Amino acid sequence: MQGLLFGTGGTPLSAARPRNPLNAIKRISELGLGCTELEFTYGVRMHEAEAEQVANLARKLKVKLTAHAPYYINLNAHDHDILISSQDRILQTARISYICGIQNIAFHAAFYMKDDPSEVYERVKKSLAGLCAEIKRQNKTIWLRPELMGKVSQFGSLDEILKLCGEVEGLAPCIDFAHLHSRTGKYNSYYEFKSVLNQIEKKLGREALNNMHIHLSGINYNSRSGEIMHLNLRESDYQYEELLRALKEQDVKGMLICESPNLEEDALHLQETYNKV
Ligand SMILES: [Zn+2]
Repeated sequence: MQGLLFGTGGTPLSAARPRNPLNAIKRISELGLGCTELEFTYGVRMHEAEAEQVANLARKLKVKLTAHAPYYINLNAHDHDILISSQDRILQTARISYICGIQNIAFHAAFYMKDDPSEVYERVKKSLAGLCAEIKRQNKTIWLRPELMGKVSQFGSLDEILKLCGEVEGLAPCIDFAHLHSRTGKYNSYYEFKSVLNQIEKKLGREALNNMHIHLSGINYNSRSGEIMHLNLRESDYQYEELLRALKEQDVKGMLICESPNLEEDALHLQETYNKV
């Protein structure tokens, strides 16, 4: 894996129409960015032929791809059908992503729904262990990446995500630093960012820092519910220069996906800032 690559969560706003993965890859390459996340957030509708074209173009233009599974996933669903369809959506994302040449899938694992967090943890863990075993059985090299979530109603604190990834083979974290900040009101300084990276290394080993999946944007939030919405970095309180300094010092490798509303503008700004700090 090369160093830390920067890119957009979804098709850059300045990509040619239609806004599809092929035009996204072309635009990422033209902009001099390194990666992009294909957003299957409203369902997996890509066909195999298109996925093969996506894989070929990404290889040719040296753009690294990653995927985001649909939003409609709740591995804490009490309704059996909802649970099964949640698991299916992750496997469908894995199936088409694999053809795209993708090795990392970020997803929102669950809602607490007022359940005891430790029970939710066990339910989510059981589901994910089954899904990872199925992906392994299919001989696919894919990391399922439960995302650190920004709302306090959503499963996915830093502790939960790191514990889960330490306990289930085939899982790796998706560390959304904006979500971490909005969920806690903290984690917005160099020393706090360093402490997160140290925790990851301690719990998951140096390999985890060599293959990181990071989401970042500006964010607004309140103490009652956490995340309200994503913002452009310079319209937010986010201390991204300090985060970039911590990432660089610790020689973190992998992908940093920018999810600001202005997508490529902030992704490029992050890349330029990273190169300077
Ligand atoms: Zn997400």
